[in-house]
Amino acid sequence: MQTALADFIRNTPEGREADAILRKCVHCGFCTATCPTYQLLGDELDGPRGRIYLMKQVLEGKEVTRSTQLHLDRCLTCRNCETTCPSGVQYGRLVDIGRKIVDDHVVRPAGERLVRTALKEGLTSFAFAPAMALGQLVRPLLPGSLKAKVPARQAAGAWPARTHDKKVLMLEGCVQPSMAPNINTATARVLDALGIETLRPKAAGCCGAIRYHLNDQEGGLEDARRNIDAWWPYVKDAEAEGLVAIVVNASGCGLQVREYAHMLARDPAYAKKAERISALAKDPAELLPAFAAELKQALPRPAEGRVVFHPPCTLQHGLKVRGAVESLLASLGATVPPVGESHFCCGSAGTYSVMQPELATQLRDRRLGHLEATKPDAILSANIGCITHLASGTGTRVLHWIEWLDERLAAR
Ligand code: SF4
Ligand code: SF4
Repeated sequence: MQTALADFIRNTPEGREADAILRKCVHCGFCTATCPTYQLLGDELDGPRGRIYLMKQVLEGKEVTRSTQLHLDRCLTCRNCETTCPSGVQYGRLVDIGRKIVDDHVVRPAGERLVRTALKEGLTSFAFAPAMALGQLVRPLLPGSLKAKVPARQAAGAWPARTHDKKVLMLEGCVQPSMAPNINTATARVLDALGIETLRPKAAGCCGAIRYHLNDQEGGLEDARRNIDAWWPYVKDAEAEGLVAIVVNASGCGLQVREYAHMLARDPAYAKKAERISALAKDPAELLPAFAAELKQALPRPAEGRVVFHPPCTLQHGLKVRGAVESLLASLGATVPPVGESHFCCGSAGTYSVMQPELATQLRDRRLGHLEATKPDAILSANIGCITHLASGTGTRVLHWIEWLDERLAAR
């Protein structure tokens, strides 16, 4: 697609990157067929091709309107379109650039600004844990919409006491330890069963995705630098430390850490370190398939059960991991039936379910329809946001697949 960038962006790194991405798009429209918001709304401007066209206009200096902002807001950043695109258009990068410019030009209504600030500061703050604990205490009294965002209190289970020569660092995350503390301890227990010790440097915190994708890109970079500083003492001499990976068990956070290399590429103090960190970051779905034989041996009996897997968009379209969890669980003895529209977003999408509740609920129910049609004992996923969002619409148990595996390893 030919573009003529406006003066304000032409000779900037963002301008050059956006121009290169736009040039790859041949306007074929294949991506619209798999775009969840286009499927729901049927409007070209609520599909990737239309949004790319809107961003092209913005970058060419045409008028930026509230309507442009709304069409970009409705995008889930699920990157389903990237998987479909035959020309390799990196839509996710383009929309980050486009949204920033649009927000610099169009002032949001006061209510929206308030919600976005509350999410950005609240979810990543130290006050989130006590607020979640209070919410869980009064959960039975909460109205339905709020109750859906507050999962029932969960016991974390024990952190393994054994030490091993092989080690991983774990990113514990910002909201996950308060909402579903068992995911991190279950990950550590599964790795312990494989002879791997999990370390969790306390100075690491939010991966930065919340702030970065709410257009506080500088705030997101600060989060990234803080995590790199926390991990670097272990990473700089990884071999001597026995370090095999940085495990990130929320695929949304894992994708963000994988992108540190790109985000910090122009920061001379952090570029090299960020490359190393991104290369070490692994989702459990990338790490554990290599240990399938050891897992099978560690199981007291085959991991029987009928489960379905909802692959988060950040796992399948962002990290490009497809089918690995389903294959691993099936190889361990589980029945894992195929699920319709498995490329589709569940509507959670970071803070999307708060900011676009109607679309998020429609997508959740559509996804649950496919998942529950298989009559599973449990729905498994790989990201705290998807797990909480799906659980709010079903009576079927929803949990991280590593928790399910941990339960099978502990079964006597
Ligand atoms: S599929 Fe790719 S090339 Fe075709 S319109 Fe969509 S983004 Fe452009
Ligand atoms: S990221 Fe997802 S919602 Fe956004 S345009 Fe692409 S497919 Fe559609």
